Amino acid sequence: MGQETNLFENVLVQLDKTAEIMKLDPNIHEFVRKPQRELTTNFPVVLDSGRVKMFTGYRVQYNMARGPCKGGIRYHPQVTLDEVRALAAMMTWKCAVMNLPYGGAKGGVICNPKEHSKRELEHITRRYTAEISIIIGPEKDIPAPDVYTDSQTMAWIMDTYSMMKGYAVPGVVTGKPLAIGGSSGRNEATARGASFAIAEALKIHKLDPKKATVAVQGYGNAGSIAARLMSELGAKVVAVSDSKGGIYSKKGLDTSKVEAFKQKTSSVVNFPGSENITNEDVLETECDVLIPAALENQIHRGNAKKIQAQVVGECANGPTTPDADEILHNNDVFMIPDILCNAGGVTVSYFEWVQDLQNFFWTEEDVNSKLKNSMVRSFNDVVGIAKKYNVDNRTAAYVLALERVAEAIRLRGIYP
Ligand code: NAD
Repeated sequence: MGQETNLFENVLVQLDKTAEIMKLDPNIHEFVRKPQRELTTNFPVVLDSGRVKMFTGYRVQYNMARGPCKGGIRYHPQVTLDEVRALAAMMTWKCAVMNLPYGGAKGGVICNPKEHSKRELEHITRRYTAEISIIIGPEKDIPAPDVYTDSQTMAWIMDTYSMMKGYAVPGVVTGKPLAIGGSSGRNEATARGASFAIAEALKIHKLDPKKATVAVQGYGNAGSIAARLMSELGAKVVAVSDSKGGIYSKKGLDTSKVEAFKQKTSSVVNFPGSENITNEDVLETECDVLIPAALENQIHRGNAKKIQAQVVGECANGPTTPDADEILHNNDVFMIPDILCNAGGVTVSYFEWVQDLQNFFWTEEDVNSKLKNSMVRSFNDVVGIAKKYNVDNRTAAYVLALERVAEAIRLRGIYP
């Protein structure tokens, strides 16, 4: 948000590189370099003080060749149209890598949620929903939570859209609370999906998960659950960090206790029995698996050479810069790229939408086993493409995504 002023340019660079490698039809290349539909709205909200404030929101539907669009909505003061475009493009590729019958979209509202009361946030959400209601819907575009939006935000969107229709439409958003059509397993889905992909990567490296050591950057929703799931597989989590710093224990950390400690003290730092280290140290820790689960651009040209892990599982979006990617690839680090590694979230969102459409809800075991099948299949698809084209896994994931989007465009043809 903000710091990447040219995020959409970066997306196009990756797209152009992939198109060249796979010799993409130039007509299809031309098509997928542009978002298909963009909506900008300036809308008024009455604040608690009685003053009217204008807000700006966006919804970008990048490509809908493979089905209705899917993508989150973020609330942040530095949201820009270019950022939303870039994220909508990445959602297109992520859904295609997972073979979900979706196109990609993203939305955003320029606001600072920390400065607003719950009532004001509800009104921002309801008015924004009304503004974008002409292009969203279970058959058109299905939003989900992203930065600073959550299941409550999704409940307000679902209610607003349903009021406009005159009946309950749970399938208009995913990431809802369970009581109104949410899915079991959705909260843990991103980390669980990542743990399935990492387990596959360990198999390739003939590494027993029970003997593997793990470091995790970021101890939020994705990172803390990924750490817990890795230790449930028997791995030893030796280092973790959050925005305040990191901790290390050669013997291994009790991830549940670290989570409880963070809840109590708001940081992992000073966890009893561990050694405080810096965030940089966590990335460079001696370990088999590194899971960046915090911010963008954390592994860069300056530290890529010092990464000791054999496997990097990108739970965060964009944690590795293109320069660092090349260094890691040359050092034989096995990268599980973000559009594959963290795609468990959108996959279970898809399951939620399917359950809503059928009004038939699955058990958590069902959700988790279907998620495992999807992650393992897509992981193997990506590894297969990497071999076929002799490219790194990130490029392979983009090739796979573009092949699938291109096939849909070819089959549908260009209207009229
Ligand atoms: P979150 O806000 O719950 O957690 C982020 C964590 O990162 C926090 O523990 C925070 O303290 C830590 N952090 C912030 N700055 C840091 C720094 N400089 N060094 C180390 N840690 C730092 O967010 P989340 O939902 O866990 O998302 C994390 C990443 O995963 C983001 O890139 C997000 O886009 C990506 N992601 C999340 C999901 C999901 O379902 N949660 C899905 C796909 C991708």
